Amino acid sequence: AIEIRALHKSFGDLQVLRGIDFAVDTGEVVCVIGPSGSGKSTLLRCTNLLEEPTQGHVLIAGTDITDPDVDIDRLRRRIGMVFQQFNLFAHLSVLDNLTIAQRRVLGRDKAEAVQVARQNLVRVGLADKEDSYPAQLSGGQQQRVAIARALSMGPELMLFDEPTSALDPELVGDVLAVMRGLADDGMTMMVVTHEMGFAREVADRVVFMDDGVIVEQGTPGEVLSNPQHPRTREFLARVL
Ligand code: ATP
Ligand code: MG
Repeated sequence: AIEIRALHKSFGDLQVLRGIDFAVDTGEVVCVIGPSGSGKSTLLRCTNLLEEPTQGHVLIAGTDITDPDVDIDRLRRRIGMVFQQFNLFAHLSVLDNLTIAQRRVLGRDKAEAVQVARQNLVRVGLADKEDSYPAQLSGGQQQRVAIARALSMGPELMLFDEPTSALDPELVGDVLAVMRGLADDGMTMMVVTHEMGFAREVADRVVFMDDGVIVEQGTPGEVLSNPQHPRTREFLARVL
């Protein structure tokens, strides 16, 4: 579970997050939506301390990660992150992309790392691609490899930042299907997305952000079909 309390983040004079409070329960899927520049990526990045919050607290499974004594490397192993850009190692095969961090960071031996990698390639529908190199795969396949790589570290929760935004439209569905499968398996997920269909069908809760604050949150039915705030309505009118 994630708990975010009074989170503020500034870059110099620019206040990007201006008091964010919310929680993601274990097994819950929360989709974060909002206009460009509203602070969605910054919120995700503060959640695994890729950015240091200026003020406020982020608790992961009860541990306050803003506490300077927290072992941030250990903590990051518990959080999987998938970005718009897949960030695969171009010079490594798919299988090696999935095993390298397991071996170096978690200290797993080769046989175990390979076994975990293969299980996760099955999960994302790419069991037949373990010997391919990233350049030989479509964008959608590369993104699914990136998801399998994150899963191979055994995360307690997964953060997704617009995982389908860089993909050709016909490749988006396969990636969303993998994410839906994870949600069905009970993974705790925080997903920044412009895919309103995914948010509607998969999210337990939708959070609408604008200008560094949460303007409105609720079930997909509440936020997407019956928004209460004019800013939410305006945004949805533009994207739906
Ligand atoms: P998008 O939908 O375009 O991805 P976003 O909601 O993810 O937008 P953020 O990337 O969180 O928005 O950015 C919010 C604001 O913070 C923007 O004005 C951006 O320029 C600024 N910002 C983000 N990262 C930095 C940084 N490292 N240094 C300075 N400003 C930053
Ligand atoms: Mg962003």
